[in-house]
Amino acid sequence: MSAPSAPFREIVVDLDAVTANVARLRELIGTEHVMAVVKANAYGHGAVACARAALAGGADWLGVADLSEAMELRAAGIDAPVLAWLHDPDEDFVDAVAAGVDIGVSSIAQLEAVAGAARGDVPARVQIKLETGLSRNGVAAGDWDTTFVRARELERAGALTVRGIFSHVSNASPDDDRAAIDAYRDGLARAAAAGLTPDLTHIAASAAALSLPESRFSMVRLGIASYGLSPFGAESAAELGLRPAMTLRGRVAAVRRVQAGTGVSYDYTYRTEKETTLVLVPLGYAEGIPRHASGRGPVSIGGERYRIAGRVAMDQFVVDVGDADVEVGDEVVLFGDPATGVPGADDWAEAADTINYEIVTRLGGRLRRSYRGGAA
Ligand SMILES: *Cc1c(COP(=O)(O)O)cnc(C)c1O
Repeated sequence: MSAPSAPFREIVVDLDAVTANVARLRELIGTEHVMAVVKANAYGHGAVACARAALAGGADWLGVADLSEAMELRAAGIDAPVLAWLHDPDEDFVDAVAAGVDIGVSSIAQLEAVAGAARGDVPARVQIKLETGLSRNGVAAGDWDTTFVRARELERAGALTVRGIFSHVSNASPDDDRAAIDAYRDGLARAAAAGLTPDLTHIAASAAALSLPESRFSMVRLGIASYGLSPFGAESAAELGLRPAMTLRGRVAAVRRVQAGTGVSYDYTYRTEKETTLVLVPLGYAEGIPRHASGRGPVSIGGERYRIAGRVAMDQFVVDVGDADVEVGDEVVLFGDPATGVPGADDWAEAADTINYEIVTRLGGRLRRSYRGGAA
């Protein structure tokens, strides 16, 4: 039960789970290309290690938001195709273009900036993002034709190559998603009319890729599902054949036997009903444990399930374990693979009124991250 060698607080990432999830998704979805989305440090799982694990599972593209995330992959020696799509208004594209990063372009101004960043006779690699209803980035429909014409001119001039045209569905409703897909098809037709015929066409993230076959095109961009979490409220990861890669755990830092009526943590929102044992868990909102999950967040200690007693503090929270025999140093699992009997990220999402994406991505602070499995 006790785990004397376990660190005080850590994220453990099972890289073999990432590899297996990507392989499973690739088989299930069946597109020519699969992009593993490793933005935001691979949703908190560790970008470089997860990128390698996803490539081992058959992903042939990597996706990130910022150029700095793409450059981190390149600096680690990963030379697989990478697309980055969210840019500072004053972004300097020279290094990314030289590193062979595909740049997602959402305006003519960005198109010009990327073309201007090409050096020598190596054209910049561009993928044009179309806005099809989500109201985020992407070229607005009214600007598609001029953008395509200008892109074709720059392509002919040797400044850039348009390798892809993409968009993003919102999972608003099946009808809204179909409308977005229709708009996207219209965009592809207009691009072709302007002389652009890129190989890479993609609009689906995990949810659409799994639930809406007509959204698959030549590639899908898989984030959350690669990490073994479900993008759907109603369908679990296990039902999709996926295994959560992340376990969040710590060690009991203190144990205290107390009388009935003892107040716990700030504001005493919890008071013991009887004589009981309180244990201190050294993870707090500095690590990304949502304070909103105070009184609700589940943990597993010694194979038993408990809930946080009282408020989550910056560095710690308390669990009332009743008369269970818990000792300083025992392992506390906040979440992991529910198939092993521990809570899942989905249980924490429910406790904090949020989504599993936010639970895993927000972790940080003093947590260390360690890996299991993987090629290394
Ligand atoms: C984050 C992101 C994805 C991945 O989304 P998931 O729902 O995690 O699969 C795909 N495409 C774009 C443009 C994104 O920003």
